[in-house]
Amino acid sequence: MEGCIFCKIAAGQIRSKILQEDEDVLVFEDVNPQAPVHILIIPKEHIATVVDIPESKIGLLGKMVQAGVSVARKKGLQSKGYRFVLNYGKDGGQLVQHIHLHLMGGRPMEWPPG
Ligand code: 5GP
Ligand code: ZN
Repeated sequence: MEGCIFCKIAAGQIRSKILQEDEDVLVFEDVNPQAPVHILIIPKEHIATVVDIPESKIGLLGKMVQAGVSVARKKGLQSKGYRFVLNYGKDGGQLVQHIHLHLMGGRPMEWPPG
């Protein structure tokens, strides 16, 4: 998708610290981390938001979670825990219109989130 910052990261046109990738999913560090570990997990294919995922591609979400679990394990977070966040829409705080899962850890997370 032209003009999409995460498509450009997936295409290697914008530099990012890539932690893991396969043919469908890319995991990279958030440029503005809100926790000691703050990574983003995206499908390589452009899908704007969680409500835009066609039923035929719903498995992508599972692959994204699986990739996050894998990177969290490698980063030593599995025993302490971590948080996945998927923002949607204005109230949900989604700023980048390419679906992404945040994975944050390395400190206790508060509840409820702000
Ligand atoms: P959202 O608010 O859309 O859920 O989160 C977007 C996230 O993308 C933010 O945490 C922001 O720091 C991150 N981000 C925005 N632009 C870039 C970028 O160019 N590179 C990386 N690595 N992260 C970005
Ligand atoms: Zn995109």
